Amino acid sequence: MPVDLDSLPSGAARVAGVMGWPVHHSRSPRLHGYWLRELRIDGLYIPLPVRPDRLGSALSALRDLGFAGCNLTIPHKEAALEFMDELSETAQRLGAVNTVVVQDGRLYGDNSDGFGFAAHLEAAAPGWPADRPALVLGAGGAARAICNALLDRGVPEIRIANRTLAKAEALRQVFGERIQPVPWNTRDAELADAGLLVNSTSLGMTGQNPLEINLKQFSADGVVYDIVYAPLQTDLLTQAAARGCRTVDGLGMLLHQARPAFAAWFGVEPEVTDALRAAIVQDLMQ
Ligand code: NAP
Repeated sequence: MPVDLDSLPSGAARVAGVMGWPVHHSRSPRLHGYWLRELRIDGLYIPLPVRPDRLGSALSALRDLGFAGCNLTIPHKEAALEFMDELSETAQRLGAVNTVVVQDGRLYGDNSDGFGFAAHLEAAAPGWPADRPALVLGAGGAARAICNALLDRGVPEIRIANRTLAKAEALRQVFGERIQPVPWNTRDAELADAGLLVNSTSLGMTGQNPLEINLKQFSADGVVYDIVYAPLQTDLLTQAAARGCRTVDGLGMLLHQARPAFAAWFGVEPEVTDALRAAIVQDLMQ
């Protein structure tokens, strides 16, 4: 079959990638690669396996190699802070960077996890009840980004139920009094007057323990969002759908969080379409 050279990167291609250790599990090369092909952009997005002790030199090399920037994944998101020339307000508040943009030889660090969370929530459950308390399960890195996004959207109270209560209390220190740490074993009762339930723990993920929760006290007009995306249809989402609640799965967060970085590096706003979602679902199943 003849190869269409116009579909391949030229010598003028803009280059970005994802740094992680390991990085082979990352979906980002296919996600960004999909948009590059779809939008016929002269660009390239590659996996960058970077050992933790080489992160500083690898980030610095982005400038020398003329990269447009990179994404950061486990274990680099927090460690990258000290190597940035400038940080967005969001990255500072979250203490983590997932997007680096090279601007005039300077490294600008941002974090789009909260954007991805909220953009998908708004797309999948328009008019979600932002005027009622939310219950967030978990207090890790993802929960931090989620709290930031929910507070920005005016949620009056965020109850955080976490196995280790001290981590939920630490989030209150960061975000203030609208955060209410609650003991893990009270999570069912805390749902009584809530409008949104978010699972940001790793429970329910393939290979992890199940998430045990009873939604009996949760209003059927509430929204249940599980950021776990493997499996795509978690037990929590199945239970919520059976109650008549609107449900939001974790894949959209992953797809939407990539949009601001793509726009910054390649100059075009990409869209999360059903075709993209179907392609990534197919990829996840392989
Ligand atoms: P993390 O910082 O390691 O936090 C993990 C959280 O899960 C903590 O709150 C932890 O509680 C809780 N947890 C783990 N095992 C538990 C158990 N047996 N019982 C009760 N709680 C348990 O991880 P993260 O970065 O926040 O990510 C959390 C999950 O979200 C992962 O599954 C990740 O794949 C997913 N995620 C999805 C997206 C997306 O785009 N959809 C983005 C980011 C993350 P303790 O504090 O008590 O340890």
